[in-house]
Amino acid sequence: MPDTILVINAGSSSIKFQLFEIADGAGELTLSLKGQIEGIGSHPSLIARNKQGEIVTHRIFAVADLPDARAALGQLASWLRAWHDGAFPVAIGHRVVHGGPDYDTHVAVDDDVLAKLEVLVPLAPLHQPNNLLPIRAIRATQPGVLQVACFDTAFHRGHPDVADRYAIPEQLYLEGIRRYGFHGLSYEYITRSLPIVASEVAGGRIVVAHLGSGASMCAIRDGRSLDSTMGFTALDGLPMGTRPGQLDAGVILHLITHKGMTADAVQHLLYHDCGLKGLSGISNDVRDLLASDDPRAKLALDYFVYRAGLALGSLTAAIEGLDAIVFTAGIGENSPVIRARICRQARWLGIDLDKTANAATDAAGARLISSPASRVRVYVIPTDEERMIAHHTLEIFRRQRR
Ligand code: ADP
Repeated sequence: MPDTILVINAGSSSIKFQLFEIADGAGELTLSLKGQIEGIGSHPSLIARNKQGEIVTHRIFAVADLPDARAALGQLASWLRAWHDGAFPVAIGHRVVHGGPDYDTHVAVDDDVLAKLEVLVPLAPLHQPNNLLPIRAIRATQPGVLQVACFDTAFHRGHPDVADRYAIPEQLYLEGIRRYGFHGLSYEYITRSLPIVASEVAGGRIVVAHLGSGASMCAIRDGRSLDSTMGFTALDGLPMGTRPGQLDAGVILHLITHKGMTADAVQHLLYHDCGLKGLSGISNDVRDLLASDDPRAKLALDYFVYRAGLALGSLTAAIEGLDAIVFTAGIGENSPVIRARICRQARWLGIDLDKTANAATDAAGARLISSPASRVRVYVIPTDEERMIAHHTLEIFRRQRR
């Protein structure tokens, strides 16, 4: 049986996982299993699919059996072990949202690293604790297994000072209030794919639009991130499914001082009730809004496209021109309508889509969707953050074995 690498992406109510087989010699990673435990604490279930996409297990649990993430992890570990005849992965890679100001690369976890990541919890209180829990639990039961922390912030750590700062007193910056940027694993995956799928622009000036239920854009030049729409937290920048994107800080002050909202209530509002859902009052899902003839659905989509257009313009300024746009993630990969609308708004940049290529719904993999006349090339490239994590984990595993 080939060695495997397990990738874990642990959130507040779900644990997503992927198992990759390491092919002999070449270091090729093949996805062998993909699944998740979701509804932890409410309607827990475990579902997993094999490499052909067939469901290999789908179990529903009583809440009492899977009351929290720790219990869910135990269940996942025993199911995975049974599935793999008792074999354990040679290494485990984790998605960790925050690497703080210092980690510009992904790292093997030891006690020192874990302590540093713990200090960052206040910077990402909704995500970091969930990300660290499985690392700690696995260290307690399998201290010998290599665990690698892969950060959403790492790819952005080389931002120039002006892109890393807010105009606030230096002391606050030193305490960690900076523009970190997120979705870095997705941007890293796209950047590494470019020499293979879009070699004409790989070293150029590129804006990648990661448009999923979380959404951001990243300005890349010579393969490096120079700026991103997300900042101190994943609330900033583009409007998202349930998050507002850019918001005047005065709005928060108003909610607290004049409407008497608590910090917890404001946090809930900003993470769960704003964005497309808040604007439309209908849904956080672009598919529902496209299917609706309610004017509020139209307004929500108009706002999404308008803000994406503004962000594209400002990131183009950050990299002093534009050679290509890459669309990725749920909306970016699957919605020809939204891609077309964003590109239409950006036609001042010399963008011209090939309508047939853009609309091809049966197309899979990376593809060019701009016309030959377009000054800026436009691509759709499916992202794969888990594969990026597996890749880094394998690299560190190999380095440690040398
Ligand atoms: P996450 O940030 O949770 O990883 P995804 O990248 O999976 O999100 O994106 C999920 C979102 O993608 C959905 O909420 C939906 O708005 C959008 N989406 C998925 N498929 C389509 C589609 N065919 N057309 C339009 N939007 C889509």
